Amino acid sequence: MKYNRVLLKLSGEALAGDNKFGIDPLVVKDVARQIKDAKDLGVEIAIVCGGGNIWRGKTGSDMGMERASADYMGMLATVMNGLALQNALESVGVDTRLMSAISMKEVAEPYIRRRAVRHLEKGRVVIFGAGLGSPFMTTDTTAALRAAEINADVILMAKNGVDGVYSADPKIDANAIKYDYITYLDVINKDLKIMDQTAITLCKDNSIDLCVFNMQEDGNIAKACNGDAIGTTISKGE
Ligand code: UDP
Repeated sequence: MKYNRVLLKLSGEALAGDNKFGIDPLVVKDVARQIKDAKDLGVEIAIVCGGGNIWRGKTGSDMGMERASADYMGMLATVMNGLALQNALESVGVDTRLMSAISMKEVAEPYIRRRAVRHLEKGRVVIFGAGLGSPFMTTDTTAALRAAEINADVILMAKNGVDGVYSADPKIDANAIKYDYITYLDVINKDLKIMDQTAITLCKDNSIDLCVFNMQEDGNIAKACNGDAIGTTISKGE
């Protein structure tokens, strides 16, 4: 096994299905099955769930809401996704813990780093909900920070229908090329839109590798957990 412990970043969209909004139970079930297949390889898996399928802070602030309140709504959306994913994973026999960065002990465990690591060591899939618990942040930044905290070997960024990082948008530019491997410096210099700048900087400074891959191809989550070259790998380089 190339990786011992991975952090899987699922955007909210990954749970929404074709209608791009809300939670599609069949889609969540399928994602859970794929995560189980990956887990069965023996890798420790932590998951950061996005919330964009339900609410994004920016949507609220564009409508005139205070940004912080709108962001808290986004964080709550990630907890809803986390609960859906937890339920689906447990229904296929995977032990899980949902940990929340905002205390809501009736719903999820509080996030305690050492406890999260212990859960992973015991073979449980840990789902991190409520992002970092702070507004003006994203779940990409959450993925970068949590990966550093739990000493994950890699962040696996599951994309919906995009199989890696390209030099330009392949839907617009026919000459766009796909990178198999690039450095964080390339990402910054070429201004490639993979994650927000804060997340990229965190990954770069803490030497965390990132693998961007298409989760819509069945079996790709397991392949990514196994370290197969299925998308684009970004690392600090020399
Ligand atoms: N959010 C936040 N702080 C965090 C993580 C998330 O304020 O630490 C809010 C933010 O409003 C964001 C929303 O939660 O728009 C949903 O997260 P995100 O947009 O990252 O989800 P994704 O695009 O991955 O579905």
